[in-house]
Amino acid sequence: MFAELWQWILLVVAIALVGVGLTVGLLRGRGGRATRLPPAAPRAPQVTTRPGMPSGGGADDEHGAGVLTAPPGEVATTPALEAPAPLEPAEPAYERPESARGRLARLRARLARSNSAIGKGLLALLSRGRLDEAAWEDVEDTLLLADLGPEAAGELVASLRTQVKVEGTTDEDVVRGWLREDLLRLVDPSMDRRVASSRVAGRPAVILVVGVNGTGKTTTVGKLARVLVAEDRDVVLGAADTFRAAAADQLATWGDRVGVPTIRSDREGADPAAVAFDAVRAATELEADVVLIDTAGRLHNKTNLMDELGKVKRVIEKLSPIDEVLLVLDATTGQNGLEQARVFAEVVDVTGIVLTKLDGTAKGGIVVAVQRKLGVPVKLVGLGEGPDDLAPFDPAAFVDAILE
Ligand code: GDP
Repeated sequence: MFAELWQWILLVVAIALVGVGLTVGLLRGRGGRATRLPPAAPRAPQVTTRPGMPSGGGADDEHGAGVLTAPPGEVATTPALEAPAPLEPAEPAYERPESARGRLARLRARLARSNSAIGKGLLALLSRGRLDEAAWEDVEDTLLLADLGPEAAGELVASLRTQVKVEGTTDEDVVRGWLREDLLRLVDPSMDRRVASSRVAGRPAVILVVGVNGTGKTTTVGKLARVLVAEDRDVVLGAADTFRAAAADQLATWGDRVGVPTIRSDREGADPAAVAFDAVRAATELEADVVLIDTAGRLHNKTNLMDELGKVKRVIEKLSPIDEVLLVLDATTGQNGLEQARVFAEVVDVTGIVLTKLDGTAKGGIVVAVQRKLGVPVKLVGLGEGPDDLAPFDPAAFVDAILE
């Protein structure tokens, strides 16, 4: 009886042991597979660099991201999960900016809309028929309201008066022709409006971008980088506006979108001259075509500006001559903008002007006024907040847009 009972107990225990063994085996099999994962897909390399980083180090290396290969052995030992196809470094999805040519044609309607007050107002006055003294005063007032400046407005009225007198007509098409010719002469198509952006004597061209904060300076540097990338230039950005907290991030974002590296400092309030120096050095080492340096535009007083910008200029010139100084002016600020231009021109040798926000003002005459004041050409115009809303300035297209 007892012997029979023991036999049954032994049989049950044996069956239980076999069952447990099988279950553990199965679970192990599954668990083993789960620990072996394919390597993570590679990330696009970061293009933003910081001075002082080991060469070739991206910002992400600090955090261990951006690693392209999995630890050895992890993939190959698992037959159930075949090793994935060899990993190609992912092509970073950079934007392709619109080519510089033809930008103004696209933006012309915007220019015409914002400046129509000048063209329409003038043509209505001039083709009214009888042009007495009061009518000519109205013509002059319209030009002054468009910020053409008293000198240019006086010249234009004198020229138109003579032509009306000599030809004896106020036919709208004829008057439009005169106006076009006179405005074009004032805008001066003979000025050299090219931006220095090619390597000079085996080194990158250096462009310093200056202007009061709020004029659209940082945005302009970002947009200009796109113009240059569209022209196949290798560009480096220098974020030397170290006083405005977000300026360096803003600039790096512009650069990242088109694969352009940004040299910046980790520290807010760092010495702008040191950042500018690092940017020029990096551009030289990278054999870039051009380096664009954003600066701070704190216009408390001229002495401050002179100290800050003067130092940036001197420090850059230890490495390289500066080929271009672009002054950014907000077209909507009128006389204030002209005053800013005067102060900056005393501190640095401005070689070109960028007029921003021309889309938001009927004061296109500022183009003429500022060129006369500084004797340097408007080279680029900002006509909106879109990334490709910066266009090389074309005098004929500009005048045609005003008179549309
Ligand atoms: P910064 O302080 O001079 O560097 O100025 P930002 O570059 O930060 O620009 C100030 C503001 O002006 C931003 O909101 C820009 O989008 C805007 N802005 C810049 N250029 C233009 C332009 O041509 N047209 C318009 N409508 N806005 C612009």
